[in-house]
Amino acid sequence: MSELEMLYQQVILDHSRQRIGEGTIPEDIDATSFQVNPTCGDEVTLGVKVNDGELVDFMWEGDGCSISQASLSVMSEMIEDKSIEEISRLYHDFETMMHSRGQGVPDEILDRLEDGAAFEGTAKFPNRIKCSLLGWYALRDALAKAGIALEEK
Ligand code: ZN
Repeated sequence: MSELEMLYQQVILDHSRQRIGEGTIPEDIDATSFQVNPTCGDEVTLGVKVNDGELVDFMWEGDGCSISQASLSVMSEMIEDKSIEEISRLYHDFETMMHSRGQGVPDEILDRLEDGAAFEGTAKFPNRIKCSLLGWYALRDALAKAGIALEEK
């Protein structure tokens, strides 16, 4: 295993233990999304608060494998205090990486994803792709319900 792969594995391990953004979803949330990954048994409910077309707060409650939970935590770290335009870009960068099937991802995408790049290795395993994407799908769906579309690039 390369040094970078070991670093990425550590990111996933750390985030699966200390989960950022996890907590009880407040009553006054604007929209929620419940997503399941039946092949692995992962599930998440993610709630968003929006104002003036921007994400102002979010919270998630999840259960499942360490990859799915770590991905939710890393996503939370990535989208915190970001504009919808920036979140759209991160969403599509992450999706592009997960659909790379281990064929390699441009460095500029990996640079933009920061810790999110740790999940590149999971894109080689079809059963794991959904684990990594679960939180992002919940985010996109919850935002859509709140009237905000993550635009295509
Ligand atoms: Zn999973």
